[in-house]
Amino acid sequence: MNSKHKHIPVRLSGLADGPHALEYEVAPGTIELPAHFRSPVSIDVALDKALHQVALRVTVRTVAHVPCDRCLDDVAVPVDTEFLLVYTHDNSAPASEDDDVRQINVNDPTIDLTEDVRDAAMLCIPMRVICGEDEAGNALCRRPIPDALRAEAQHREDPRWDKLKSLKLDQ
Ligand SMILES: [Zn+2]
Repeated sequence: MNSKHKHIPVRLSGLADGPHALEYEVAPGTIELPAHFRSPVSIDVALDKALHQVALRVTVRTVAHVPCDRCLDDVAVPVDTEFLLVYTHDNSAPASEDDDVRQINVNDPTIDLTEDVRDAAMLCIPMRVICGEDEAGNALCRRPIPDALRAEAQHREDPRWDKLKSLKLDQ
């Protein structure tokens, strides 16, 4: 993991203490998002650097295109989410599972946001995606819904998801 290229690097070494605003834009494939993600991913980082600690508020925005469960037409799913991270130099602090405080690597003081951004973006995709429903509960699908496709849709698997699932196990 340490030898991995950092696609969303936050270099702490050159930053003065105080607030900073950083912006990134990456292609979804660069950070191993699945094929549903085709639009660039923009990442805004509001960062507050103190002597021993760095707090980051990370905002992730993009649009995913997920096939409708009913008709397989593309449904645009907006992704607009944020999360907080705290990194510290103080390795005497007890490593608690509850608060998400992480250690800054003194030999390589560059935080990589890649995995956190990928996880946050994927959490924005609901389990069930449909084109929508009118007030009476009728599907707003513009395409017909063949029964065969409907059954098939439940078994569609993107092989790239498998890779991501196995990555999760390593954490
Ligand atoms: Zn549909």
